[in-house]
Amino acid sequence: MGKKYQFWFATGSQDLYGEECLRVVAEHSAKIVEGLNRSGLLPYEIVLKPTLIDNVSIRKTFNEANADENCAGVITWMHTFSPAKSWILGLQEYRKPLLHLHTQFNEEIPYDSIDMDFMNTNQSAHGDREFGHIVSRMGIERKVIVGHWANAEVQKRIASWMFTAIGIMESSHIRVLRVGDNMRNVAVTEGDKVEAHIKFGWEIDAYNITDIAEYVKSVSDSDVKALVDEYYDTYDILLEGRDADEFRKHVAVQAAIEIGFEKFLTEKNYHAIVTNFEMLAGLNQLPGLAIQRLMQKGYGFGGEGDWKTAAMVRLMKVMTAGVKDAKGTSFMEDYTYNLVQGKQGILQAHMLEVCPSIANVKPAIKVSPLTMGKREDPARLVFTSKPGKGVATSLIDLGNRFRLLINEVECLTQDTPMPKLPVASAFWRPEPNLEVGAEAWILAGGAHHTAFSYDLTAEQMGDWAAAMGIEAVYIDKDTNIRSFKNELKWNSIYYR
Ligand code: MN
Repeated sequence: MGKKYQFWFATGSQDLYGEECLRVVAEHSAKIVEGLNRSGLLPYEIVLKPTLIDNVSIRKTFNEANADENCAGVITWMHTFSPAKSWILGLQEYRKPLLHLHTQFNEEIPYDSIDMDFMNTNQSAHGDREFGHIVSRMGIERKVIVGHWANAEVQKRIASWMFTAIGIMESSHIRVLRVGDNMRNVAVTEGDKVEAHIKFGWEIDAYNITDIAEYVKSVSDSDVKALVDEYYDTYDILLEGRDADEFRKHVAVQAAIEIGFEKFLTEKNYHAIVTNFEMLAGLNQLPGLAIQRLMQKGYGFGGEGDWKTAAMVRLMKVMTAGVKDAKGTSFMEDYTYNLVQGKQGILQAHMLEVCPSIANVKPAIKVSPLTMGKREDPARLVFTSKPGKGVATSLIDLGNRFRLLINEVECLTQDTPMPKLPVASAFWRPEPNLEVGAEAWILAGGAHHTAFSYDLTAEQMGDWAAAMGIEAVYIDKDTNIRSFKNELKWNSIYYR
């Protein structure tokens, strides 16, 4: 995050049709790029590159794209026929996201005037098939988007792909700080960190919790007071009979944790953190409110040492960083069901750590005992979550490879109060329904922890997984258990 990313637009052609044709190609390309940038629908700027007509110019452009740290991907389009052997070396050396925009300059066939000159100049239907063939033959992962460039739906799909491309680019910069190992005896949160580094670029490092606790202890009283004042200005306070001074002291512990943790993360350049409630040496409370606030600032988080979900939360935070009117992204856990017919759903929460970016109401601070963790009662933010569709993901390690589960879910309005529940929550119904959704999730080995976002689609997450070279399984309105079980079997052959 923080980089000013751009996407390059590279039009393919050749010199067979003469100077006049190449002039038209360049003019059309410029108009398309200008139109796309002006649409107001794209989160990142598109930069026009000179028309690519031969092996040398293609190879040079792709290598420049690799080297340019602001370039997050190349968009290709064949205006005329562009013999695809010219693309082999450039594509072979190219390492960034690739979008093949299968469009053409004119929307309608000019029936009155169309002649062979027009056909030779405007033959994307022809040229883009030649280009697509070589990319497929070379086994290169790319996105193909079809339609007229001025169409808003096409532009929205390009925008959606841009967010995916940012995820692919930023994935390899994710660094996860572990100050708690995997919870004892838990299987699904385990995984191969070396393989994750190879596949995703993630760096996952451990520190003693006491190292970060030193940072917490050294936070000044005045800094703590200032942050507690900010909390009291920002959130409602639910004393619920507790003494106001004692309550404030509990909140102050979380303020010191937030400041100390953030300093540690910043100094050591980490973007996600995992804790474990069993391993809290040097801390007076399980980080709750502090972690919730850090997540809202864009850090990834996973509970009980779950570094895979922590990295996924960070990834999805990065992918949604430029989304207009974003509804939120959080670490989440499947907790308990409502199985009443017609009201089915899964209550989502965690011990404490749910990101307030998904809150539907002004969050409130509560101080309540933890039944686990053997520390003083931690302060936490409580709230319910926005209604609406989202995507829940779970990255699991199957021993020899990773699988990403992607479940479309719908968060329902939480209109029945839960006055005794001391944690933030969401209530969602998985697609296609609770019974099939949960059955498919369990058959695929999905975790209880998820990385959830309202602002990403299954398509985006699946495209990210494809770019990483890992299996993605979708659970959505089309999921059918018999086909799903077969898909898992077939995938196990392909991905072994
Ligand atoms: Mn958990």
